[in-house]
Amino acid sequence: MTIFALSSGKGRAGVSVIRISGPETFSAILTLTKNAKKPDPRCAVLSWFYDPLTNEKLDQGLVIFFPGPNSFTGEDVAEFHIHGGYAVVAGFLEALSKLPNLRSAEAGEFTRRAFDNGKMDLTSAEGLADLINAETAGQKRQALRQMDGDLGELYEGWRHEIISAMAYLEADIDFSDEEIPDDVTARIKPIVEKLHNEIAAHLADGHRGERLRHGLQVVILGAPNAGKSTLLNYLSKRDVAIVSEIAGTTRDLLEVHLDLSGFPVTIVDTAGLRKSDDIIESEGIRRAERRAEDADLKLVIVDGSEKAPLNDQMSGHIDANTMVLFNKSDLSLDENGDHPVPKSIGTWHISAKTEQGLDEFLTALEAQVEMRMEISEAPSLTRTRHRANLLSCQDHMTRFLSADHFELELLSEDLRMAARDLGKITGFVDVEDILEKIF
Ligand code: GDP
Repeated sequence: MTIFALSSGKGRAGVSVIRISGPETFSAILTLTKNAKKPDPRCAVLSWFYDPLTNEKLDQGLVIFFPGPNSFTGEDVAEFHIHGGYAVVAGFLEALSKLPNLRSAEAGEFTRRAFDNGKMDLTSAEGLADLINAETAGQKRQALRQMDGDLGELYEGWRHEIISAMAYLEADIDFSDEEIPDDVTARIKPIVEKLHNEIAAHLADGHRGERLRHGLQVVILGAPNAGKSTLLNYLSKRDVAIVSEIAGTTRDLLEVHLDLSGFPVTIVDTAGLRKSDDIIESEGIRRAERRAEDADLKLVIVDGSEKAPLNDQMSGHIDANTMVLFNKSDLSLDENGDHPVPKSIGTWHISAKTEQGLDEFLTALEAQVEMRMEISEAPSLTRTRHRANLLSCQDHMTRFLSADHFELELLSEDLRMAARDLGKITGFVDVEDILEKIF
């Protein structure tokens, strides 16, 4: 079946691109152009397009023919660049649907065909989906790398090493219940050990790839009226939180998504932390504390004009991922002085109202965000499914390494399962359910 779809965004535009892929591509071009032009491969040809049944003019535009297998999907593909008006696009799509053996594509179907035809592995397909969804420069960089095959090549490299070790194991022994000679295990174990260590290092990346995909979670914590909402408004440059003088207005969690120097950040404003008898407020406080536990970064904000701004309830939340802000520096008299807070990233004296000290704090915040998400030399895993399969792969390797038996079948099965886990990531095995979820 030949499939077609509007590949550019929906809505009025100067130009829209409609793409088709499949065996009927060439004949569709001939029918729509009334054989006027036989396009050379990969050359843009200007032509009128006609409805195949009514002969009515659809539009004038460009057609580019990409004969398989050198195309995105590996099949014959064509792109029609037409004017992006609603009626033009709708008329063109309708004309395509009138052709025999053509139907409109399902979501992700072009990529699915590219995958089926060996044009890309599963991690590249995920990279492509991430690229289309990327909202910040950092996300775009990571997605481009993954689409280009960096991650897939890493996993395939590991998989092949395991397969070679396995082949080696099986080649040396041609009868399975014989004990494996010591020198064989002595030669294979270091290979598996090395791979195990490499995967461990890859996994211990502080979730930076996953964070970059989803955004870093930054939670603002503080007592009521400390200035949390005012700070959030400053950070988001729009009035998203209600700034009020009545304590306890932010009862639920309020999220703002920001682009901080190219990295996606979700900032969460929480209910003010204090002892409360109000059921709704207590629930808000409970949620704030739960959210703080999962946060990548915490901003603890206190009213620096108070005598003892950091109470025990606040201090309990301070750790190595916490920036402590002494707010209302416009009101505080210098006698309060600096309050070094051990365990924290550092302290900043700011005024959320007059914006004094906020530039400095923002620079520090950006540095913290970058540090947690900057993409490294080696490609990072970006999805929970990568992590789950790698952990399972490691388990099989650990079993292999710690085996006190020397039964070939069991040892070789451990390696086979480890290789299979890597194959699941790149899509060599069990691909069905994953592909559907990507797009
Ligand atoms: P929240 O309850 O922690 O969200 O606090 P808000 O942001 O709603 O602020 C509580 C009150 O403190 C409001 O009246 C703000 O205008 C005021 N406020 C916030 N930051 C500052 C500051 O830096 N200086 C002064 N003087 N007032 C501030």
